[in-house]
Amino acid sequence: MNILVINCGSSSLKFQVINSESEEVLAKGICERIGIGGVLEYTPKGGEKEITQIDMPTHVEAVQNVLNALTNEKTGILKSLDEIDAVGHRIVHGGEAFSEAALITEEMIKEVEACNDLAPLHNPANIIGIRSCQKVLPNVPMVGVFDTAFHQTMPAKAYLYGLPKKYYDEYKVRRYGFHGTSHQFVSRRAAELIKKPLEDSKIVVCHLGNGASISAVLNGKSIDTSMGLTPLEGVIMGTRSGDIDPSIVQFIANKEGCDIDGVMNILNKQSGVLGMSGISSDFRDITAKMEEGDQNAKDVLETYSYRVAKYIGAYITAMHGVDAIVFTAGVGENNKYIRRMAISYFDYMGIKMDPERSEAVRCEALLSTDDSTVPVWMIPTDEELSIARQTVEVLGKK
Ligand code: ADP
Repeated sequence: MNILVINCGSSSLKFQVINSESEEVLAKGICERIGIGGVLEYTPKGGEKEITQIDMPTHVEAVQNVLNALTNEKTGILKSLDEIDAVGHRIVHGGEAFSEAALITEEMIKEVEACNDLAPLHNPANIIGIRSCQKVLPNVPMVGVFDTAFHQTMPAKAYLYGLPKKYYDEYKVRRYGFHGTSHQFVSRRAAELIKKPLEDSKIVVCHLGNGASISAVLNGKSIDTSMGLTPLEGVIMGTRSGDIDPSIVQFIANKEGCDIDGVMNILNKQSGVLGMSGISSDFRDITAKMEEGDQNAKDVLETYSYRVAKYIGAYITAMHGVDAIVFTAGVGENNKYIRRMAISYFDYMGIKMDPERSEAVRCEALLSTDDSTVPVWMIPTDEELSIARQTVEVLGKK
């Protein structure tokens, strides 16, 4: 089957076409500046990236342009649209309604809309992506794959906040967790690599990208994760603060004379390593500064790694042990300093990074020594492939 995977944001639309038998990416790209112009980047398998300025007033034109590129006589990878067998859509928030990927129906879309309050920036955009595809590909089955679904197995003790119960009962204020597709994909692969049955495995997954979350995956199921009601909770991120004392919100509002929205903007967009370093949200820039001897850049990376280590330690406790620790996503796959600094806290347990192996970037690699008590792996995540696999699974169940 050829699966078109769509990840739709408010002004962008990322796509890949994946053949589900060979798991090859046949083409990929992104539409950006939707509604304010339009740029299509398209790369067919084995071909050059093409960048085209095309007017895209809405996501419908964006989808249409993607399909035109895919079926273009010269560089297209499909003879006709009939060769698209299904579409898999990334949906950020499925609330408590979805614990796995689901076939997209009118009723399902209503349930997703009911979660809009929980992800006001993402879910409406995801639904626009679905509606646009339905217009242009009316007869193709579509599946929604949720960022939150994998974490629906968390027990109440992991998802409840220390708040009045009515906020959970009435508004569903609880911890949900995100990056579920990645945590699921990576933990499954980790179980294969350490040669343990998934149903009998304890894996800590550190998904460290621009957004970052850590999860405890016990016997193939998420039992805890660092993001909460929204992706702001947890470890320090590119521009998000991660865990803070909630009183800081009032304190900053008073000092800076801003309202709640103003403070939330600071916590989401101006904090994290961007705010701490004053340099950049990109770990490459901060690492380069540290290598030049910049003390503040070093403090930022140490603080970041320390927070990561504390979550790893907490999740080892949550699972009564650990069979593997895995790093993934942009920072986890590339930044040797952070991986080494975070794992250095577990020397008391006999977990040891191998100096040479732990240099690895962007490829599946064992980072720890042969005599490390727990293996540390780097496993590149592939959220699109995971969405394609789940799409096929759901359609198989139909
Ligand atoms: P997201 O999907 O959350 O936007 P990614 O998983 O792509 O984020 O991660 C982005 C981050 O990965 C960047 O901010 C950058 O700091 C880091 N990164 C990417 N490539 C490298 C690299 N070669 N070396 C160090 N860090 C990198």
